Amino acid sequence: VTPEPKVCVTCGRAFAWRKKWERDWEHVKHCSARCRRKLDATDRALEDTILALLAKRARTSSICPSDAARQVAPDDWRPLMERAREAARRLVARGEIVITQKGQTVDPSAFRGPIRLKRI
Ligand SMILES: [Zn+2]
Repeated sequence: VTPEPKVCVTCGRAFAWRKKWERDWEHVKHCSARCRRKLDATDRALEDTILALLAKRARTSSICPSDAARQVAPDDWRPLMERAREAARRLVARGEIVITQKGQTVDPSAFRGPIRLKRI
C-alpha cells in the first residue's frame, strides 16, 4: 500500500510518497531539496500578516498575497511574493484560510496564476 501524500512544511504543497523515502517516510517533511530550509521570522511574519489583514476585513472579502508582502517589506516586497504564496498554502494546510480564483476555492498544490486569500 502506498502511503498517503503529505503536505510540505515549507511550500505547503501536497507531495506523494516516493521509493527513495521508503525507509524514513514518517520523518520526511519537505517535498524537495529546495524546501529543506528552516522557516524564519519573515515566513512567520507573512503568515501572521495574512491572518491580521483578513481579520480586519469582512469575512467575505479577500486579500492578495502581495498585500502581506508589501506590509512585511514595503520597500522590497516583490522578492517575497513566492514566500507569501507559500505562507498562504501553509495556512490552508492548517485550516485557517482558503485560496481562491474567480471566487472559487482552488487546490493549493495545483493553482496557476493570480490568487486571492479568504477566511474559512
Ligand atoms: Zn515544498
